[in-house]
Amino acid sequence: MYTVKSTDTMKKIMGEYFLSLESGNKKVAWCTSVGPAELLRSFGFEVYFPENHGALLGATRTAMDYIPEAIKCGYSGHVCSYTTADIGAYLKKETPLQKHYGMKGAPKPDIIAYNTNQCREVQDWFTFFADEFDCPIVGIQPSRHVDEVTDEEVQLVVNQMKKMIPPCEKVSGNKFDLENFKETVRLSKEATLLWQKVLKTSTAMNAPLSFFDGTIHMGPIVVLRGTQIAKDYYTELLTELEENVANNIGFLPEAKTRIFWEGMPIWGKLRMMSDLFASNGAAVVASTYCSSWVFHKFDENNPWQSTARAYTEIFINRSEKAKMKMLADWFKEYKIDGIVFHDTKTCFNNSNAKFGMPQRLQKETGIPALIVEGDLCDLRFFSEGQTMTKVETFLEQLEDAKVLS
Ligand code: SF4
Repeated sequence: MYTVKSTDTMKKIMGEYFLSLESGNKKVAWCTSVGPAELLRSFGFEVYFPENHGALLGATRTAMDYIPEAIKCGYSGHVCSYTTADIGAYLKKETPLQKHYGMKGAPKPDIIAYNTNQCREVQDWFTFFADEFDCPIVGIQPSRHVDEVTDEEVQLVVNQMKKMIPPCEKVSGNKFDLENFKETVRLSKEATLLWQKVLKTSTAMNAPLSFFDGTIHMGPIVVLRGTQIAKDYYTELLTELEENVANNIGFLPEAKTRIFWEGMPIWGKLRMMSDLFASNGAAVVASTYCSSWVFHKFDENNPWQSTARAYTEIFINRSEKAKMKMLADWFKEYKIDGIVFHDTKTCFNNSNAKFGMPQRLQKETGIPALIVEGDLCDLRFFSEGQTMTKVETFLEQLEDAKVLS
């Protein structure tokens, strides 16, 4: 399989990002991954994303050591395993950030901001830490599960974002500066459009980037959007992938089928799942997950409304009908043969196989669907043997259907 060369650059900038969080030069704001990072950055905060830490706990499989700590203090083992793993790691005073980046621990927050556009869990999770660190917490609570986002819904979010200004000014010691905000939105928009182009390189029949590689290379768009660093990184990555498309180099030598991944990654089994699809000649070329950080509506000339709209109309915050339309469009664009729904046991919000969507989608688009059970961090909910059998059978059926068509 092809190895993305820009990975070394990505590792370097992620390492520098983590170390910058504990340099002590700037105040630190914690933020949800699809939260108002641009507004926070415009005040000069370093921005830390606990969900990124949750993914690290999952990918290093240390989550399994920490989830029981959170359960002991009253959290159910069936709620978001980012939340339970992160709280458990804090209670145990351990983190893979120590081993991987030489940090003392997760950075302490000076202020915490969340957006319930993705789930209510983030409010509970972040409030735990606001209480622990006795620091201010601000929240955005948009309309949920929307069809099309209306101007009234956007204005509601704008008003809530504006309420963040006084606490941000107080904690940062900096007055709100509209020009800083516009500049951060501009940088964020440019990076996010590059990230979108990166993902779209895999519309090529010899796709250069797999979903599994995408989950690694999305790091900077999550934690560094709104900076020149993210923009430079995606310029480099895009150049590499576009060259591969021009030279007909895909991440698989030859793909028999093209697959769409719906739902969260199974962080502790990324390699295993990547090898499983690759060894069966299936290219997983697109996902809702990696596309979640494409905010193409950002506009520096209209920073309040455009960011409020972009953050409210993300896939996870849409109605089933709106989600199905988005999926059907992606199927055509990426020439998809089949979709795999990851039914994530501890994330109800990012599991779309519970209300009949796979069946309805198959009826409407003709694209066959498979549901695999698992979890983002808690591997008790994942059976390797059962998943391998299900995926291999599904891929064989897809291949047979292609031969017959
Ligand atoms: S969307 Fe799911 S995984 Fe993400 S924070 Fe919310 S419950 Fe956890």
